[in-house]
Amino acid sequence: MIRFTFILIFLTLGLTSFKNQSIEPKYPTDYFSSPVGHEITLSGTFGELRPNHLHAGIDIKAYQGKIGEDIYAVAEGFVSRINVAAGGYGKALYIDHPNGYTSVYAHLKTFKPEIEAYIKEQQHLEQKFELTKYPPKEKFVFSQGQKIGSLGLSGRSFGPHLHFEIRDSQSEVPINPLLFGFKVKDSIKPIIQGIKTYALNDKHEALEERKWAAQKRGTAYALEKDTLMIPSWRVGFSLESYDQMNGAGNLNGIYALEMFVDDSLYYSFDMEKFSFDESRFINAHLDYKEQVSLKDYFNRCYTLPGNELSIYNHAANRGVVELSEYKSQKIRFEVTDADRNMSVLSFWVKRKNTEQTSSKIYNYKLYHDQENMIVADGIEIQFPKGCLYENLYMDYSASIDSSHNIYSKVYHIDDYKTPVHTYYQLSIKAINLPLAKYDKAFIAYCDKNGRYSNCGGTWTGEYLNTKVRSLGDFCIKTDELAPTIEVLNFPNKLDAKSSIKFKIRDNFNTARNVAGLKYEGKIDGLWVLMQFDGKKDLLYHELDAKLAKGKHNFSLVLTDAMGNTSSFEKSFIY
Ligand SMILES: [Zn+2]
Repeated sequence: MIRFTFILIFLTLGLTSFKNQSIEPKYPTDYFSSPVGHEITLSGTFGELRPNHLHAGIDIKAYQGKIGEDIYAVAEGFVSRINVAAGGYGKALYIDHPNGYTSVYAHLKTFKPEIEAYIKEQQHLEQKFELTKYPPKEKFVFSQGQKIGSLGLSGRSFGPHLHFEIRDSQSEVPINPLLFGFKVKDSIKPIIQGIKTYALNDKHEALEERKWAAQKRGTAYALEKDTLMIPSWRVGFSLESYDQMNGAGNLNGIYALEMFVDDSLYYSFDMEKFSFDESRFINAHLDYKEQVSLKDYFNRCYTLPGNELSIYNHAANRGVVELSEYKSQKIRFEVTDADRNMSVLSFWVKRKNTEQTSSKIYNYKLYHDQENMIVADGIEIQFPKGCLYENLYMDYSASIDSSHNIYSKVYHIDDYKTPVHTYYQLSIKAINLPLAKYDKAFIAYCDKNGRYSNCGGTWTGEYLNTKVRSLGDFCIKTDELAPTIEVLNFPNKLDAKSSIKFKIRDNFNTARNVAGLKYEGKIDGLWVLMQFDGKKDLLYHELDAKLAKGKHNFSLVLTDAMGNTSSFEKSFIY
């Protein structure tokens, strides 16, 4: 009996320790508490596919959709970084914790008063609104659950939410916060919308692409046809799928995808972590054309040769499936969310005995693994190695556009549906540009809606040179128009609670690597803090309680990328 008990205890212990080991979480799941004071619902998940980047955090919806609620430190720690920006994360706080992780809170409305005061002081010292500060360790220390600020809409945020991240403090690699035990109610399986098939040649170049809608049949998903006939020896797939969570209508990103060929695992990825350096490779991961033209996010299940994302766990033969004429192969996709709710889609594929050949019209072939130079009439293009994710059969042409304010040929460099990873060098020769307009000229990118943006440029003789990061239509244009200032709120009498507001606009958007509108506000000739909300073109100044009583003069000067300026002046009584 004694021996039996002993064995039983041993067995139980053994089993328990084995079980614990098998589900041992990689990350601490009981260290962090919630950053909000209510049940968490998400309008965005970690690794979600977004334009040009993977989402590095989770988006926690505001309670009842209102800004201003309290945000709390998820564990003890010190503020390691404070960021204020007109776009991006807006007002953001970074807290380093003793366990080696950093929590990030973005789009805040306000910081805690001490931090607000510190930031105001720094903004005045540096005479600028946008800044990043790394305060000393002991300056702002929080305990777990302490209020750090309030939820807002600052930066590039279009609905009240908290963008929340967990990063490894050393490497700054963001890790999926849902792996840290934050409680999010999710019992809903991901939705599978459909797939795309890519008939590939021996170089894995797509000869034909086709979309197939998925429908739910019982508990699993299926395609309209049980067997897909592919007109080539090789096939690649992409899958459109989104996750849904309880209490939110948002279509969020999935956590993991596995593809099985004849029941063996062939390709998989998961959204555990990635580094910011690799985030832009999302343009290789998704079907870029579907995203930029239809806003549909298809996860490519075969990897393009220039794709350096680290999210893939399996990619046999790069995920490309070799087909046979004689035998159908079974394909099964398993899509999971972070709560392990799973949806399944399965179907069969077989080779169709008619060989597909590419129908794309092109005049240059560019190689993804080497530098490519194009020198043609009035243009020089230099694509660095690594600029493309795969070889490109490029459609190039030049045309004459005699419309007003175009001072070169219009160059069609493939189109906006083809992604580039890095900037490439572009030089365009000016035609009929008056000498007096040289310093007002820039290389313009014409987007799919016919809107031009300023990509900058410096002159070498008659050639204007710049770096760009899209394909499509380019030409030389000039900008001699000053930006506009619209007064939204500026009464004659102001007090400590007043703020004066303007809408500021310019006639051209600027590319990311070109400085946009600059603004400078002064009261009685002294610099004052102008705050800018980029998404609303809203520029405002909150009156300082320390301003002396009496009459004052406010002035504002705007300068655009080409040095065109406009100004505004007004006296007021304080
Ligand atoms: Zn976010």
